[in-house]
Amino acid sequence: MKDYLINYDKTALEYIITHGYNQPVFRAGQINGWLYKGAEICEMHNLPSAFRLALADKYEAFPLSYKFDLYEEKTDTRKFIFSTADGIFIESVALNYDHGICVCVSTQAGCRMGCAFCESGKGGLIRNLTPGEMLSQIIRISKMLGRRITNIVLMGSGEPLDNYDNVKEFILRANSPDGLSISMRNITLSTCGIVSGIKRLIEDKIFVNLSLSLHAPSHELRSKIMPVEKAYNINEAIQACKQYRKESSRRITLEYCLIEGFNDTAECAKALYQICKNTDMLINLIDVNSTKGKYTRNSAHCMRNFVEKLKSYNINYTIRRRLGSSINAACGQLRSEYAANQNGGA
Ligand code: SAH
Repeated sequence: MKDYLINYDKTALEYIITHGYNQPVFRAGQINGWLYKGAEICEMHNLPSAFRLALADKYEAFPLSYKFDLYEEKTDTRKFIFSTADGIFIESVALNYDHGICVCVSTQAGCRMGCAFCESGKGGLIRNLTPGEMLSQIIRISKMLGRRITNIVLMGSGEPLDNYDNVKEFILRANSPDGLSISMRNITLSTCGIVSGIKRLIEDKIFVNLSLSLHAPSHELRSKIMPVEKAYNINEAIQACKQYRKESSRRITLEYCLIEGFNDTAECAKALYQICKNTDMLINLIDVNSTKGKYTRNSAHCMRNFVEKLKSYNINYTIRRRLGSSINAACGQLRSEYAANQNGGA
C-alpha cells in the first residue's frame, strides 16, 4: 500500500527527500506548500518531473478520497463524505459563517463512547484517524470550496481525547505556520469528559477552546445517557475543566443537548446553576437531532421554556444554530446512511 505525504510535517519531509531521493532540502518546503494547497503529486509543477515520478511510485498526497457532498441552503452548511484508503467512510461538515469557514472534523471512524443519542457510536469504534486523515478533511474541503478555512471544531464523529496522540499532532500541525496556520483560539475541542485527556492537554499546554458535552447536570441523569460517566463522573469532569480554564485562560463551554421530558426540568436548570455559579462557563444549548431509534424532535416550546428557566438563574447560554438537520449533519447520521446504502441496506 502507498504511503501519504501529508502524514509528514516539513521536517520529516526534509529527511525523506534528502535521504531517500537525494534532493536539495528546499524541495521539502515546496512539497509542503503544495500539500496545504490541496495539490496531488502530479500537480507539483516546480518539482523536476523525474522526482515527481519517483515520489509518486511510493506516495500519494492524501489518504482520503472525496465521495459526495450535500448542501443545505437554509443554513449554508455542506456535508462531505470521504473514503479512507482502507475504504471506510468518514464525514466532515463545512459551516459558513460571516467571518469565515469552519470545518467540523471527524477524529475517529465510529466511536466507542456509546452516548445514547449519538449516531457515531452506534457501530462502535472502527479505528482512530491519523493526523494526516484529519488534515486531509480540511485541505480537501478548502480546495473544493476555494476558500481558506478559518476555524476548526473537533465535533465530527469520534471522541478526540480517545485518540489523544493523533489529535495532539493534528492540532499542532493545524496551528503551525508550516501547516494550516490556524490560531489555537480558532480551534475547539469537544469531549464527552475523558478527564485523563483533559489533564494531558494541560500538561502539553495545548490551549484550544474546550467544550464539555455535559447533556445532563447530575451523575444520576448523566449515567442514563452517557456511559463515560462510569469512568469519569461529572464532578471530576467539571473539576478538570476548571483546571483547564485556570491554566489556559480559555472560557469553557458546556454543551447541553436538550431532550424533552428528560433534561429540561426546573431541577435540571437549578443543577446547571450550581455547576456554573462563580464561573464564566457558557451553556451551549442544542435541540436534540432526531435519530432513527429513540429520539424524536423536541416540541417547539421545549427550548423556549428551558431558556426561561436558565434566565431566571442568570446562567450564560447560547443556542446552537440548527445546522444541517435536513441533511443529517448530526454526528454520524449521514455516514451511517451512506454506508447502509453501499451495503444494499435501507
Ligand atoms: N465525542 C465528542 C465530540 C463529538 S460529538 C463529544 O462528545 O463532545 C459533538 C457534539 O454533538 C457533542 O456535544 C454531541 O453530544 C452532540 N450530538 C451528538 N448526537 C447528537 C444529536 N442526536 N443531537 C444533538 N447533538 C448531538
